[in-house]
Amino acid sequence: MRQIAIIGAGASGLFLSRLLREHPDVEIHIFDRCKQVGTKLRASGGGKANLFNEQITPDCYNHPEFAAQILQKVTPERLRQVFESFGLLMSTDEEGRVYPLSQFSQTAVDVLWEPEAPNIHSNMDYEVKKLTRDGDYWRINDYPIVFNDVVLASGSPANMIPKNRRQYNEYLTSLGIKIHPCVPSLVGFKIKDYPTLLSGCRVKAIASLYQGNRLIHKEFGEITFKDDGISGIVILNLSAYYNRLEEKTDCHISLNFLYHNEILDTKEHLRQHGSLQGVLHPKLNALYERKPFDIKNFDLIIDEPYDLAFAQVCHGGIDVNEVAENLVLKKHPHLFAIGEMLDMDGICGGYNLFFAFASAIIVAGNIIKK
Ligand SMILES: Cc1cc2nc3c(=O)[nH]c(=O)nc-3n(C[C@H](O)[C@H](O)[C@H](O)COP(=O)(O)OP(=O)(O)OC[C@H]3O[C@@H](n4cnc5c(N)ncnc54)[C@H](O)[C@@H]3O)c2cc1C
Repeated sequence: MRQIAIIGAGASGLFLSRLLREHPDVEIHIFDRCKQVGTKLRASGGGKANLFNEQITPDCYNHPEFAAQILQKVTPERLRQVFESFGLLMSTDEEGRVYPLSQFSQTAVDVLWEPEAPNIHSNMDYEVKKLTRDGDYWRINDYPIVFNDVVLASGSPANMIPKNRRQYNEYLTSLGIKIHPCVPSLVGFKIKDYPTLLSGCRVKAIASLYQGNRLIHKEFGEITFKDDGISGIVILNLSAYYNRLEEKTDCHISLNFLYHNEILDTKEHLRQHGSLQGVLHPKLNALYERKPFDIKNFDLIIDEPYDLAFAQVCHGGIDVNEVAENLVLKKHPHLFAIGEMLDMDGICGGYNLFFAFASAIIVAGNIIKK
């Protein structure tokens, strides 16, 4: 009987346990420092869990070449088939985002998790602090079993308050693996000299991220003005591209509120109607009345991203060059890494859960082959 350890009962770890539990020749020991499984999976997609996207492309990840390798092995269609084989029905919205048909993330957790399965040993409220090699085997803390294979599925410190960020990957420090520091991604930005008058305003706009005069990325969507900065899915996506910049200096976001009517002549409109109150959100109009601005290029200078506690994912983690195509650590033949533990992050829309599940499928295939 092969003994397999999965460190982390989040999206990727649960999915892997579901794939492996059908194989009676493996015993699965799954560890999580939380009392409950699937904490982030339950919180994802506003409680609905956007499981994946039908139109996933490699360039929506920070390492497109690595993402292309994954997509060659696991397509969104393949992931759909696997979920269907677990009995999960899904619905797809007009932007290709796939959710459980129940529109409830707990449904996804329920089809993945079966702690009573005969070959599953569930160790919740168990923090892994030490992972050590013992000949051809691995040991975890003082757990009484030695493992043939260990799968690192401990996620990232995104969306956690600082005191909970401890230890999530410190047990790896003695293994000589290159790990990039985690910085927040899919997060809003604090803005310099922020116009607080806009706080609470929600509008649609075309948002463009610039470094100096260079356009980095442009997208249309809803913007939320907070007390000291901006957020909303479109801004979260800009943060993913911001993180790809080596130097983060001289960056600003330009908002075009006239996305619906590019040809409107603002001066002529003002001449005819005396104000822009029929064009802009009342708060934007109030700001305009105080100090006119270019409503097609409203520039906001980035101060810094919000804290990790507000981020959906992290940019950083185990360097993707540390793993072979089958996601085994090149330096450690029986150690695998999946999900957000790897330095892989994608934009909003099901990209991050897709990577968590797809990487689990690849590793399951390798463990079963053995
Ligand atoms: C609010 C929010 C909404 C999101 N919405 C979406 C969405 O709709 N679609 C999408 O694609 N992505 C979404 N994401 C991102 C997605 O949830 C993550 O990318 C995904 O959960 C990563 O899966 P994972 O298995 O790598 O990590 P996780 O799901 O975070 O699981 C890691 C597990 O490891 C455990 N752990 C950590 N360290 C240790 C240790 N030392 N010992 C034992 N256990 C440990 C943790 O407790 C955790 O349960 C969202 C994220 C957030 C925060």
